[in-house]
Amino acid sequence: MPLIVQKYGGTSVGTVERISEVAKRVLVTKQGGNQVVVVVSAMAGETNKLLALAHQLSEMPDERERDVLLAAGEQVSTALLTLALKSLGERARSFLGHQVRIETDSSYGRARIKSIDSNRILRALKDGEIVVVAGFQGVDEEDNITTLGRGGSDTSAVAIAAALNAEVCEIYTDVEGVFTTDPNICPTAKKLDRIFHEEMIEMASTGARVLQIRSVELAMKFSVPVHIRSSFSEAPGTWLVEEDQAMDSVLVSGVTYDKNEAKITLLKVPDRPGLAAQIFSPIAEANIVVDMIIQNASEDGTTDLTFTVPKADYKKAIALVEKTASVIQAKGVTVDPNIAKVSIVGVGMRTHAGVAAKMFQLLAREGVNIEMISTSEIKISVVIDEKYTELAVRVLHDAFIENQGNL
Ligand code: ADP
Ligand code: ASP
Ligand code: MG
Repeated sequence: MPLIVQKYGGTSVGTVERISEVAKRVLVTKQGGNQVVVVVSAMAGETNKLLALAHQLSEMPDERERDVLLAAGEQVSTALLTLALKSLGERARSFLGHQVRIETDSSYGRARIKSIDSNRILRALKDGEIVVVAGFQGVDEEDNITTLGRGGSDTSAVAIAAALNAEVCEIYTDVEGVFTTDPNICPTAKKLDRIFHEEMIEMASTGARVLQIRSVELAMKFSVPVHIRSSFSEAPGTWLVEEDQAMDSVLVSGVTYDKNEAKITLLKVPDRPGLAAQIFSPIAEANIVVDMIIQNASEDGTTDLTFTVPKADYKKAIALVEKTASVIQAKGVTVDPNIAKVSIVGVGMRTHAGVAAKMFQLLAREGVNIEMISTSEIKISVVIDEKYTELAVRVLHDAFIENQGNL
């Protein structure tokens, strides 16, 4: 019997009524002659609520206890969906991360899955049960509860689909698939029928939160067919596919934005070997992820060093950088949390020149100042003032996607 993994996100299980709708859809899938494993997120807003509770007690909550707390969100939705299935007369059983045994490393808040013991799931399926697994959570070697990072239920689902060799992993969300840009801020965004793994990885890492990056990496590594679609309609969604040179590739597949970073600048850093290492080592030791970095040498033998970190970590980062700044006798530290990163992504960029220049012209025409730039083979990102985010996304989407024939 074919095995299907279905993942339902927060909005899809946001109320008891929605959970009943999901149960009906799961049932239809089973009645279609499939074995079904369902992975669920916490009900919409629950993870944020739990996080806010922890922050009422401490600015930087203990990471182990924070993960114990956050995992509770998925425990609730998993039990409710299982109850909903039972009330439809179905046989169903819930499993938390430690009961399946989804083993992760011990990096609280961003743990990576090391292995999944699929025996308990397979036994339940063999008994004719629908299996409901809590997303986002696992346990480390020592049985400490861990969580996989925001949006991590996507990764739970793809990892389980890989471990069970599922026919397909369906990611059900509140939009009809992956769009050329966030459909909630750009009404002309178009649903993509398919997207290459590499493009999806870049889109996810530059802000399209529709899939967690790690889930796409796993889908690519283990060749898991992934179909992103809406739990509110029957419409087919977007398939993640392997890059195929024979397919006509468009220049830009997607425009993304990310308002979750802050920019830190160290002024007049003496220009000596070893100083970059001295600045970034404490930040790395504090587990803060640095995204973009630029360094500008000036004629007086000093440099300005600018970089971005997640907004959630910027106060911690500043405290560390200020300490280093006084040791190395830099002139000072400035910070700007009101920035956004706007990016264009597409495999077609590999073979086309002039895309960056065009992007900069379009932004200049709107009077949007570019503060930082970074590129990869298939992506160009710029940092701009946060207040221009929507404008920049629409202008780039119009030019590169709506009217790409006129470029
Ligand atoms: P879920 O709770 O189902 O995991 P998420 O909120 O994590 O849902 O992801 C879905 C949201 O991602 C959409 O509501 C949409 O606003 C946002 N999004 C951002 N960029 C895109 C994009 N390019 N395509 C589709 N959705 C996007
Ligand atoms: N509930 C978690 C979050 O809000 C995981 C997920 O939704 O995928 O990030
Ligand atoms: Mg999500």
